[in-house]
Amino acid sequence: MKLSIIVPMLNEAENVSKMYAQIKHSLKKVKYEIIFVNDGSVDNTEIELNKIYNVDNSVKIIHFSRNFGKDAAIYAGMEVANSEYTAIIDGDMQQHPKYLMEMYNYLEKNKVCDQVCMVPAKRKNMSIIKRIGGKLFYKLINHISGIKFREDASDFRMFRNNVKKAVLSLKESNRFSKGLFNWVGFNTNSLIYQIEPRKYGKTKFNFKRSLNYALIGIIDYAENPLNIFTKTGAFISLLGVGGLLYLIIKSIIIGHIYHEIFIALAVILILFGINLLGISFICLYLARMQTEIKKRPIYIIKETKGIK
Ligand code: UDP
Ligand code: MG
Repeated sequence: MKLSIIVPMLNEAENVSKMYAQIKHSLKKVKYEIIFVNDGSVDNTEIELNKIYNVDNSVKIIHFSRNFGKDAAIYAGMEVANSEYTAIIDGDMQQHPKYLMEMYNYLEKNKVCDQVCMVPAKRKNMSIIKRIGGKLFYKLINHISGIKFREDASDFRMFRNNVKKAVLSLKESNRFSKGLFNWVGFNTNSLIYQIEPRKYGKTKFNFKRSLNYALIGIIDYAENPLNIFTKTGAFISLLGVGGLLYLIIKSIIIGHIYHEIFIALAVILILFGINLLGISFICLYLARMQTEIKKRPIYIIKETKGIK
C-alpha cells in the first residue's frame, strides 16, 4: 500500500459518509487505505462507520471503549497504518482531502523531505480568543522550549515511515502530537491550505479544552519552566525586602504607620499568588508523572473492523 489515511472521529455521525466520499473522490490514482478511529463517540458515528465497512471492507475501523482524545486516536491509527506514507486528517471536513494529493505529490517529488505539514491560510472564522490565545501560546512555548514550534502547524500532515516509527516509539500517555512530530526531528516542510467552515457537528476543542491542551504542551516541552519561578521568586523577594525596609524607615521618620500598609498588603497578596502558581506548576508536573508512571495503555479498543 502506498498511503494510509488516519481519520480521528468524535461524534461526527453527519460527517462520516460525506468524508468517506470526499476522500474517495480526491484520491483516484493512489493505492490507499482509510483508517477511521472512532474516539468513543456517543452519537451514531459507530453505526455510520460500520455501514461504510459493510459496503467497502477495505476500510479499517477502530472503535475505542471511550473518549481517549484525538492524540490517542492518531496513535492507534499509526499502529495499524501499513503503507509507505501515512496521513492524518480531521474527520469533520474542515480539511479538504484534495490536499492529501498535494502532500502526496510533494513527498513523491522531494525525496529528502520526510514530512509535509499543512498550515492553514489566514483563519477568518476563528474566535478572537482562540486567535490571540494561539499566538500567545506559540510565543511562550517557542521561548521556553528547546525545539521550534511552527505557529499554526496543524495535525493535518503526511509523513514517511521513518517519522511514523519514531513517533510510535514515544509511548507517553499524555500525548501532544504537534510536539511529538516536532520533537522527533526529520526534514519537515509546510504547505498552505484553506480551512473549511464546519458544516456539521461542533468543535470538540472549546476554550477550556484548548487551554488544557496548551498547558500539556508547555509542561511537556518547556525545558524547565520551574526555573522561571526560581528567578522571579528571588527577584520579588529582594524587592519585598527593599520595600519593607523603606516602609520601616519611613514610619520611624514620620512617627506613625501610613496608608502604605495597604501597599504592603497588596504586595503580600501578589507574592502569595506567585507562590501558589509555582506550587500548582509543581503539582501539574507530579500529576503528569503519576499518569506516566502507571504506564496505562494509551487507548482501549472496544471493537475493530478490517484489522487482522
Ligand atoms: N477528535 C477526536 N477526539 C477528541 C476530539 C476531537 O477524535 O477527543 C476529532 C474530531 O472528531 C475531528 C478532529 O479530531 O475529526 C478535530 O477536532 P475538532 O474539529 O473538534 O477541532 P477544531 O477543528 O475545532 O480545532
Ligand atoms: Mg474541526
